[in-house]
Amino acid sequence: MSNAMLIDITRCVGCGECTRACIAANDLPEGDDTQLSCARYTVVNEVGNPQASVRQLCMHCVEPTCVSACLVGAFRKTATGAVVYDEEKCIGCRYCMQACPFSVPKYEWSSLAPRIKKCSFCHSRVSQGKLPACVEACPAGASVFGDRNELIREAHHRINENPGEYVDHVYGEHEAGGTSVLFLSAVPFGLLGFPDNLPTEPIPRLSWKILKEIPKYAVVSSLLLFGIHWITARRAYVEKIEHRDSETEELR
Ligand code: SF4
Ligand code: SF4
Ligand code: SF4
Repeated sequence: MSNAMLIDITRCVGCGECTRACIAANDLPEGDDTQLSCARYTVVNEVGNPQASVRQLCMHCVEPTCVSACLVGAFRKTATGAVVYDEEKCIGCRYCMQACPFSVPKYEWSSLAPRIKKCSFCHSRVSQGKLPACVEACPAGASVFGDRNELIREAHHRINENPGEYVDHVYGEHEAGGTSVLFLSAVPFGLLGFPDNLPTEPIPRLSWKILKEIPKYAVVSSLLLFGIHWITARRAYVEKIEHRDSETEELR
């Protein structure tokens, strides 16, 4: 069983209890409640027209690019669905930040011993049989937690039962190969600022396909560069010979 969180934007009342519960559970410092940062692992903002309250947090991708980009294995996807970070292994290269399609990982720029910061899916709480703090605190049932397959079924059930209330799209079911945070909405996700052009194939697999092609491209590029170099050198050589021959001719 792999866990997931279903966030139903139509049920969210924008109270911010999820953010406050996350701050308390992770002992986070003062910070801006409007954007993800080292001090905020989840935020809720009013976005779009008509406005909707939209949570942001790590999407806990099924095949995460942060995991595949990390050279030292500081990120890993766990059996509980959480993508967790090990600061002991991290070398601060920040490839995870570049790789994440949702711009989630944040770096402690001002720290002398900087770490990456993001939502852990409350991995330690969930490992003890508890709910993530944000889910436990949600008074509206807008954020729920459970088995990913069951939540996907539940999401489609809500869409089918209330066709006028939702767009027919469970965000995260297929995006970037699937995520463990899923969303339902009344308006198209692109209008709420969600990346709406992500591939449905896991991004690490796409990267691998491209990397596998690189040797071919590298050989073609090398041959091309060698060809250009050979033609240039040959032309210079011919010009030098012609120049020498014309000088010799003049001396005669
Ligand atoms: S959203 Fe970004 S940081 Fe979170 S699991 Fe996916 S790739 Fe990693
Ligand atoms: S799952 Fe835990 S760490 Fe992640 S946003 Fe919710 S409370 Fe914060
Ligand atoms: S606690 Fe629930 S209802 Fe309140 S902002 Fe968070 S997700 Fe929305």
